[in-house]
Amino acid sequence: MLVVGAGLAGQRAALAAVEARRDVAIISKLHPLRSHSGAAQGGINAAVGKEDSVDTHIYDTVKGSDYLGDQDAIEFFCREAGPTVVEMEHYGTIFSRAEDGSLARRPFGGQGFPRTIYAADRTGLALLQALWERLGTEHFTLYQEWDLTNIVVREGRVQGIVAFDRRTGQFEGIAAKSVVVATGPAGRIYGRTTNAHTCTGDGVAAAYDAGALLKDLEFVQFHPTALLESGILITEGARGEGGILKNVLGERFMGKYAPHVLDLASRDVVSRAIVTEVREGRGFPGNFVHLELMHLGKERIETRLQEICDFCRNFAGVDPVVNPIPIFPAQHYMMGGVGTNIRGETNIAGL
Ligand SMILES: Cc1cc2nc3c(=O)[nH]c(=O)nc-3n(C[C@H](O)[C@H](O)[C@H](O)COP(=O)(O)OP(=O)(O)OC[C@H]3O[C@@H](n4cnc5c(N)ncnc54)[C@H](O)[C@@H]3O)c2cc1C
Repeated sequence: MLVVGAGLAGQRAALAAVEARRDVAIISKLHPLRSHSGAAQGGINAAVGKEDSVDTHIYDTVKGSDYLGDQDAIEFFCREAGPTVVEMEHYGTIFSRAEDGSLARRPFGGQGFPRTIYAADRTGLALLQALWERLGTEHFTLYQEWDLTNIVVREGRVQGIVAFDRRTGQFEGIAAKSVVVATGPAGRIYGRTTNAHTCTGDGVAAAYDAGALLKDLEFVQFHPTALLESGILITEGARGEGGILKNVLGERFMGKYAPHVLDLASRDVVSRAIVTEVREGRGFPGNFVHLELMHLGKERIETRLQEICDFCRNFAGVDPVVNPIPIFPAQHYMMGGVGTNIRGETNIAGL
């Protein structure tokens, strides 16, 4: 089995395959630990602990999708989330802790319960390192800095791939009985995105060229709080910790758009609210609004949101302990991609 991509998705697929005693290879255009999963900040939603329930997580997710999400997939995903978090903890992920030593949880947008489990504001990096160490105990072949260019299909069945080896400058063919595409998002289609320059949708394009059906490409998520110039993400965890949005008049404007959940409404609601404020003349000169954390206090900001502090100080010249953060929405997440069923199977056998 050939896994294309060594982010959290590709590595977890490869681990499942080696555990099932398959002969596994991974190709990745980046070192696995440079995958964009490492940029994930705020945490993972999972119903763990007695006070929360999987049913509520399912309900919140279906509602958050405006009832357009695939409900079978949502149910499967929510049921798997808790055991997956526990599994990742057993692999050594250093999740943040509550006072009593249990997994700490913070509120996130669109969730009726504080169910986001996190490792400060570096959750993706913590997960990626733990999973890479776990995978390193297994036998597999890694083709690093190889770029997938084509997926080879004959008579409706996948035969392998063609890839470009950057070190030799040669194109190579790799035969495989099955190919998993886990090449991440295509955020760089957009001028303003939280995604790295490597997020160019290569696998989706190759699958399309090979005859795979694509699905739901029009569902693109915009994150409300990206740093003004760079588009670097300011995690929703910042609002989960109590951060608030304000316009140029000093108004906490989310009260008009989502009177109950305010700044923690779902991302589409908050993004539209910010754009409306700016379009109606209540943004700051330069078209942005403020995210304020100052009232949370230095200790909380610097322990729970360390990386956010670094990003703001280094890339925007503002210190969130004493200054508001200038933010505006940016493209963040692609819900669509290669069309699959709930088991991840496409219309091409073996893909
Ligand atoms: C800034 C940011 C913050 C986020 N925060 C959160 C969060 O707090 N919680 C949450 O649940 N989600 C979060 N997300 C979303 C989440 O991080 C991603 O959905 C997830 O990590 C994607 O994992 P992946 O393995 O599919 O992709 P990636 O981690 O992007 O991995 C893609 C892999 O494919 C490889 N690749 C790409 N093209 C090729 C090619 N042509 N040939 C060979 N290899 C290739 C790359 O080398 C890489 O190894 C965030 C996303 C961003 C952008």
